[in-house]
Amino acid sequence: MKTQNDIYDVVVIGGGASGTALLYTLATYTTIPKLALIEKYEAIGSVNSNAVNNSQTLHVGDIETHYSLEKAIQVKPASMMVAHYVERLPREKQDAILQRVQKMVLAVGSDEVAKLSDRYEKLKSAFPNLTKLDAVGIEKVEPLVMKGRKKNEPVVALFDPAGHAVDFGNLSKSFVDQVKKIKDKTINVFLGRSVISINKTDDFYTIQTSTGPIQAKVVVVDTDAYSLGFAKQLGYGKEFSLIPIAGSFYFTKQVLKGKVYTWQDPRMPFAAAHGDPDLTVPDVTRFGPTARFFPVLESRKLGTMADFFKSSGLEKMKTWASFFKILLEPARFKYLTKNLLYELPYFGKYLFVPEVQKIVPSLRGGDLKRAGGYGGMRLQRVDTSTKELLLGEGKILGDNIIFNMTPSPGASVCLYNAMRDADQVISFLKGSYSFDKDRMMHELAPEKPQKIVDVSAATYVS
Ligand SMILES: Cc1cc2nc3c(=O)[nH]c(=O)nc-3n(C[C@H](O)[C@H](O)[C@H](O)COP(=O)(O)OP(=O)(O)OC[C@H]3O[C@@H](n4cnc5c(N)ncnc54)[C@H](O)[C@@H]3O)c2cc1C
Repeated sequence: MKTQNDIYDVVVIGGGASGTALLYTLATYTTIPKLALIEKYEAIGSVNSNAVNNSQTLHVGDIETHYSLEKAIQVKPASMMVAHYVERLPREKQDAILQRVQKMVLAVGSDEVAKLSDRYEKLKSAFPNLTKLDAVGIEKVEPLVMKGRKKNEPVVALFDPAGHAVDFGNLSKSFVDQVKKIKDKTINVFLGRSVISINKTDDFYTIQTSTGPIQAKVVVVDTDAYSLGFAKQLGYGKEFSLIPIAGSFYFTKQVLKGKVYTWQDPRMPFAAAHGDPDLTVPDVTRFGPTARFFPVLESRKLGTMADFFKSSGLEKMKTWASFFKILLEPARFKYLTKNLLYELPYFGKYLFVPEVQKIVPSLRGGDLKRAGGYGGMRLQRVDTSTKELLLGEGKILGDNIIFNMTPSPGASVCLYNAMRDADQVISFLKGSYSFDKDRMMHELAPEKPQKIVDVSAATYVS
């Protein structure tokens, strides 16, 4: 017989930015006394939150042209919580997590120039640091973006001199370090312990792990692409599937001072190829990511193909019908086919170089080197009942359990999502404990203390 003392109030599964931000939030701002986090790898922040697997951008909505205007404006206070969290750390800890970096989004050609100029008029009041630059202005802040460009090619850019580059893996580690300082609660972080299954008995969940069971009254599954598989095990989210899009990168010598994004077709769920400085390698520019259909849940881990097939629902005809409808949409089909070619050994970089030349025209295929060991998986959700691709993050709410699926900008809004989940956890625990949300907002979201609205695409209650 288990006694209440053996059972955690809340167990968070997944030690990336999402899970660790939630552990930090519950530990710091709630009165919940008994918490645990379970992570299958020996290190925190090893998968999508790892700096080598993502683009290290704090997405605040100003240069993300694939966001609706509404989402662009709403995401800013949610993402800025990360910057405010870091500002509160001792100075010597800050640089390993966050660095200020100039950033721009570039429009090339008259169609893109017209669309970006129009977007600027609608966004500028929400982003007072954003300025619109013409060719001369762009040359001043990013000389190589203009060098060698065709004389009459129309260009315009939206520029912020002080964007943020974030090492989300180090951010995740920092959340755990902060939690470890809390002495008046029981908080356990289990590393190297893989969750195999989750089962519900009357009053609590039993989480079977590679080294034995753990019990909890409330469970939050923050395992990104794996979350859907766990939801399905418990009978939730059966109508959803995942389209697995792998993104890889190329390095060049340093040709950019900051981040340069490009105009993105809003039908694509993620940012087009961009150029960025890299927090893990000095004096280079990293271009990408590419976008390639590849059926795994983790980059460079072929063994996770089985996990993809387990959670994808490909045994159902309607999943196949949804995949065909989504992937054969002409613009997406063209985009994904083109991107497949970028992965070809030797030739790939010559085929990819036009994407790079849109940003830095003077670069040649031979200047690009595949960034081996860099790149992550962007699992895009599909609703097989409507055959729609669902953009952004998703959440399934069950009986005292939450499953989060967190593609970009999941890392940027990790603290916002954690704040929202903390509210839900308190309500699951039926008012036994409290959440000082006002203090969290005051400390981490000073711009809009009471007004952050839902930045995620959808919440499903099963
Ligand atoms: C190419 C690319 C570029 C991106 N660029 C950006 C960007 O610039 N800015 C941005 O905000 N976002 C970006 N993203 C998205 C961002 O990486 C994710 O939103 C974010 O990392 C998700 O964090 P997470 O904690 O939910 O998932 P993860 O960091 O993947 O963490 C999930 C954790 O769950 C653990 N886990 C899985 N299964 C189990 C199990 N059975 N038992 C125990 N633990 C388990 C994993 O080991 C992992 O540590 C990018 C993503 C990609 C792929």
